Amino acid sequence: MSTKPSILLIYTGGTIGMIKDYETGALKAFDFDQLLQNIPELRLLDCDISTSSFETPIDSSNMNPEYWNELCDLISTNFDAYQGFVVLHGSDTMSYTASAISFMLENLNKPVIFTGSQLPIGDLRTDAKENLITAIQIAALQKRNKPVIQEVCLYFEYKLYRANRTSKVSAEHFEAFDSPNYPPLITSGVHLSVHEELLFKPSRKSFKVHQNLVTDVLLLKMYPGIPKSLVLAMLAIKEIKGIVLETYGSGNTTTEMWFLEALKTVIKSGVPVVNVTQCIAGSVQMGNYETSVGLKKAGVISGRDITVEAAVAKMMYLLGQNLGPKVFKSVYETPLRGELT
Ligand code: ASP
Repeated sequence: MSTKPSILLIYTGGTIGMIKDYETGALKAFDFDQLLQNIPELRLLDCDISTSSFETPIDSSNMNPEYWNELCDLISTNFDAYQGFVVLHGSDTMSYTASAISFMLENLNKPVIFTGSQLPIGDLRTDAKENLITAIQIAALQKRNKPVIQEVCLYFEYKLYRANRTSKVSAEHFEAFDSPNYPPLITSGVHLSVHEELLFKPSRKSFKVHQNLVTDVLLLKMYPGIPKSLVLAMLAIKEIKGIVLETYGSGNTTTEMWFLEALKTVIKSGVPVVNVTQCIAGSVQMGNYETSVGLKKAGVISGRDITVEAAVAKMMYLLGQNLGPKVFKSVYETPLRGELT
């Protein structure tokens, strides 16, 4: 029997597996088998690689929680058979999916590494090969017969990040992702430098999959001059179960009474509201300025230094847990998968 780690490579779609339709010039997904044919180097890696693919690979702009469930099913049904998982995903919504999966897989003690690319695998200047090969190599890293990485990560352009700390920051550069509030876990140069002190240490409790996400979440981005009528109309939508409020700087927003009163009413009706910053880096600190004191008093939850992607995913995940308002607030403000500091 082989003692090499076994890695399951899951193709969901995205540029990494796309080719040009020479008639229309547009990129379209191709048969996953061809992906491996394009990278014979994969056979040189010191691990056994099996592949699986979404029946119809998708552009990640079409990603949704049903596909997240499909991904969780693929991982959980194969969980015991593999030492690690690599998920190929379009870069556009990769941070949303990877953040959601980090919450959906509890007590994960194996690597789930998301990667993709800015250029298709067949392109002359592609970034796909390095991303794919190194992502697999990292998923296969073992120390004393245990996986080195035991969390959901995102590998792109020589850096391995904690997935729920990332955002897509460039539609142009190969360095498409950043993790402004948490350093990379591994940097890839001539050698792979593993920053062990930064790795997530999972609990020893048994692996659990949560698939009952509640998706009725409103993401409300504040901007100077946002009309009262629009805000009130949005906050009055009955279907809303949770709100992620994108505010300025360290969690500040207008002090106008109509706004604070409307938020109070929403929160009293049992809809949790989380405050996240529009800034790329840094943290919400409610109470620091007069412009956030009202939010704190109204019972708004602090998202601290969470990304918007992880904030939405965590909201969907916790809404599925049927927690009372007080517990919801305290669990939301607690790091569950290393998503906040
Ligand atoms: N539109 C593509 C996607 O997200 C872009 C990419 O793969 O990088 O699926």
